Amino acid sequence: MFKCDNCDRVLKADELKCVFPDIPGLTERIEPGGTVPAGECPACGALVYPIKESEVVAALKHACERLNAIPHRYADTDFALIRRALAQG
Ligand SMILES: [Zn+2]
Repeated sequence: MFKCDNCDRVLKADELKCVFPDIPGLTERIEPGGTVPAGECPACGALVYPIKESEVVAALKHACERLNAIPHRYADTDFALIRRALAQG
């Protein structure tokens, strides 16, 4: 998984517009000692970097926290609706 440095789009390897090292103007766009980009964003053309596993876990955790933040009365309603739909077969 890769993430665009500019628009935060999450991309798969086959979605990248240009793939390292075939990135136009690469030497002017990266800093010495910086992270090596994986390619170019197909949406905005900015450099795309690999997402570290720890960042993927953090993003998933954040998504789970957001789900948990849904008021329980809504969640209960959803479960009730699902149960009713299942009961009706
Ligand atoms: Zn982008």
